Amino acid sequence: MRMKEYEFWFVVGSQFLYGDEVLETVAARAEEMATVMNESGNLPCKLVYKATAKTAQEITDLVREANYAPQCAGIVTWCHTFSPSKMWINGLANLQKPWCHFATQYNREIPNDEIDMDFMNLNQAAHGDREHGFIGARLRKPRKVIAGFWQEQEAQNRLGDWMRTAVGVAFSKQLKVMRFGDNMREVAVTEGDKVEVQMKLGWQVNTWPVGKLVETMNAVTEAEVDALMDTYRQQYDIATDDIESIRYQAREEIAMEKMMQAEGCMAFSNTFQDLYGMEQLPGLASQHLMAKGYGYGGEGDWKVSAMTAILKAMSEGKTGGTAFMEDYTYHLEKGNEYSLGAHMLEVCPSVAAEKPRIEVHPLGIGDRQPPARLVFEGHEGDAIVVSLVDMGGRLRLICQDIHCVKPIMEMPKLPVARVMWQAMPDLTTGVECWITAGGAHHTVLSYDVTAEQMRDWARIMDIEFVHITKDTTVEKLEQELFLADLAWKLK
Ligand code: MN
Repeated sequence: MRMKEYEFWFVVGSQFLYGDEVLETVAARAEEMATVMNESGNLPCKLVYKATAKTAQEITDLVREANYAPQCAGIVTWCHTFSPSKMWINGLANLQKPWCHFATQYNREIPNDEIDMDFMNLNQAAHGDREHGFIGARLRKPRKVIAGFWQEQEAQNRLGDWMRTAVGVAFSKQLKVMRFGDNMREVAVTEGDKVEVQMKLGWQVNTWPVGKLVETMNAVTEAEVDALMDTYRQQYDIATDDIESIRYQAREEIAMEKMMQAEGCMAFSNTFQDLYGMEQLPGLASQHLMAKGYGYGGEGDWKVSAMTAILKAMSEGKTGGTAFMEDYTYHLEKGNEYSLGAHMLEVCPSVAAEKPRIEVHPLGIGDRQPPARLVFEGHEGDAIVVSLVDMGGRLRLICQDIHCVKPIMEMPKLPVARVMWQAMPDLTTGVECWITAGGAHHTVLSYDVTAEQMRDWARIMDIEFVHITKDTTVEKLEQELFLADLAWKLK
């Protein structure tokens, strides 16, 4: 399902105490609020006013329906009036969808001349939302609390970001990952417990033989290759005479996409150590598939592949870009320190600052033909890098704030796409924090998804979240990791 096909149910808490007139007013206002927020253009999905909840049975029935409805990606609750929260227990205890408590208020200002006890009885969000918040805390239910005036753009944007996160949850729970070959031999961080991952995150991670891919490639027609070559010519500058190498990548892309579509997969991994029967490591092929929304991980890294697909799904329609990334090398000039991110070939062109060029160069690793790949520079802007690691018994999601710059040098002999950034809080402390937390060399780099969204996603998924910010110190982080380790063992 695409972003626009999902909806969120707006459920407004109340009770019978106030009489029919107040309840009618509450319902009419809730409908109005949903309409205005939908028309603001700041929500990526439709907010559907569903009910003014007055009884435990109503709430239980509504939660059951929300759990069952595939188009419902979450519920948004708010208490216009006071809504005694014991009547929410049975419903919320069974809630299986993401939940946002939107602590807002119908009126922006206190109406100085008109305020009387009728106004006070109708407008009780300030204490109604506290009663509602207590039961969320008491139930230990993962929930997002957003406070703000519903007509303010900032509040709407935060609700919109949370909706994107919830869509990332829905996407994750039905994600299938296609592995071509196993993980790179002897590498630890790309490994993981696939059963645990499916239990926690929903991913179905399975393998298909490279021989089957070669067979599918051989069945691709010249006409299919011609059509994809036209697309390449439209989107990229061809900076090579080796057209056959590009055509070979097109053949690989078509075959991989056919196999993924046949299985409903939105992410894939491969490894240069298992290209049996293939002439080139997929470069351009993987890059163009990522540009279309597929997740990818090199060296069999199915975790980063799945995370790439999820962050792409969360940021659908945004234009900053999200890419599979790897920390490659540092520039350690004092006061001018940067990380250079790249990969053997496969950086997604969604992060490019300019029109990517198709070039053909030898790989320098493995024993295959020189593959066609897209070469470009990443653009300037704030971003995050994200890494999911398996700590044994639990998953840890590590997120670091970064600022990407236009690469400070041209590096004319570097034959791959490159992104350059300043890590927070600074390069060396950032590296110390990342390594202390066990973050991988592979990451997802995104200009579109925020650290707050990843924190929310991790909370909903019930996995550990570590955030390296401009304020992080190694000492504070070590303390946090030590306590988290104890807490997650008890959990
Ligand atoms: Mn790699």
